[in-house]
Amino acid sequence: MTVPSIPLNDGTAIPQLGLGTWPLDDAEVSDVIQTAAGLGYRHIDTAAKYGNEKGVGAGIAASGIARDELFVTTKLDGAFQGDDRAIAGLEASLDRLGLDHVDLLLIHWPLPKRGEFVSTWRTFIELRDRGLTRSIGVSNFKPAHLETLIGETGVVPAVNQIELNPLVIRTAERAANASHGIVTESWSPIGGDGASVLDSPVIATIAEETGKSAGQVVLRWHVQQGLVAIPKSRTPSRLADNIAIFDFELTDAQLAEITKLAQPGLGVDSDLTGH
Ligand code: NAP
Repeated sequence: MTVPSIPLNDGTAIPQLGLGTWPLDDAEVSDVIQTAAGLGYRHIDTAAKYGNEKGVGAGIAASGIARDELFVTTKLDGAFQGDDRAIAGLEASLDRLGLDHVDLLLIHWPLPKRGEFVSTWRTFIELRDRGLTRSIGVSNFKPAHLETLIGETGVVPAVNQIELNPLVIRTAERAANASHGIVTESWSPIGGDGASVLDSPVIATIAEETGKSAGQVVLRWHVQQGLVAIPKSRTPSRLADNIAIFDFELTDAQLAEITKLAQPGLGVDSDLTGH
C-alpha cells in the first residue's frame, strides 16, 4: 500500500499516515517497525521521552528500507528546552537512532510556564539550517502559543502534532494551524488505549456500509480532512488494517456523522500538562 504525502510549508512533504511508537520499548518497537515497513509504512513517529529511539533505529536498520525513503520524526524532551540545549537534545536523539538527520523535529510540549519555547525554536531554526533535521515543528501548541512563536521569530512551524480524533476534534486549533499554513498531525488518532471511539455505533454503522473496520473508518476520517495520522499498534493485523485506507472514500454525510461524536471538554490541556 502506497501512502500519499502532503506538502509542508518549507518545500518538503510528509506521508499522511505514519506509525506511532509510544509506549513500545526498544525490543518491541524494533520488531513492530520491521513488520510495518514490510506493509508499506515509511513514516515513523518517536520522541526522546518515549525511551525507544535505540529500538527505532535498530528497526529502521533491520528493515532494509533506504534512508531517503523514510520519514522519521522525533521530539525534543522538555528538559532540553531553553538556550541552545536543543542542540545536545537532538544530537543525543540522532546518536540513539543511528541517523545523521531526522525529517521532522518537534518541540514536544509548549510548557508555557517555563517560557522557553521561543528560545528553543531559535535553536531549532539553526538545527534545520545545519541539516540535522529537514523540517521543524511543534506539538501540543495552542493558537496563542503559535502566535507568540511566529510573532517573535517570523518562522512558521511546518507541523503541529496535537491530540485529535472524532471525540476530540480541536476545531480552533485546526483553524489556527490552517491559517498559518501549518499541517495538523493527529496523535491518538483512534482514541488511544481503550479507544472508546471504536465502540461507537455510528462508526460501526459506517464500517458496515463501507465494508471496512472501525479503525479504518476513523483513520479515513483523518486523511480525508487533510490531517496526518500516526496510529500505533503492536498487532500485525491491525498494522495492516491501519494502512489499508487509501482505496475507499467516506461521503460528506458520513464524515459529518463522525464529527458529531465530538465531546467538548475531553482531551489534554497543554497549558497544564506536558514534559
Ligand atoms: P492510538 O494510535 O489512537 O491508539 C493506540 C491503541 O489503539 C492501542 O491500544 C492499539 O492496540 C489500538 N489499535 C491500533 N489500531 C487498531 C485497530 N485498527 N483496531 C482496534 N484497535 C487498534 O493512540 P496513541 O498510541 O496514544 O497515539 C498514536 C501515537 O501518537 C503514539 O504512539 C505516539 O507516537 C504519538 N503521541 C504523541 C503525543 C504527543 O504529545 N505529541 C502524545 C501521545 C501519543 P494494540 O497496539 O494492542 O494493537
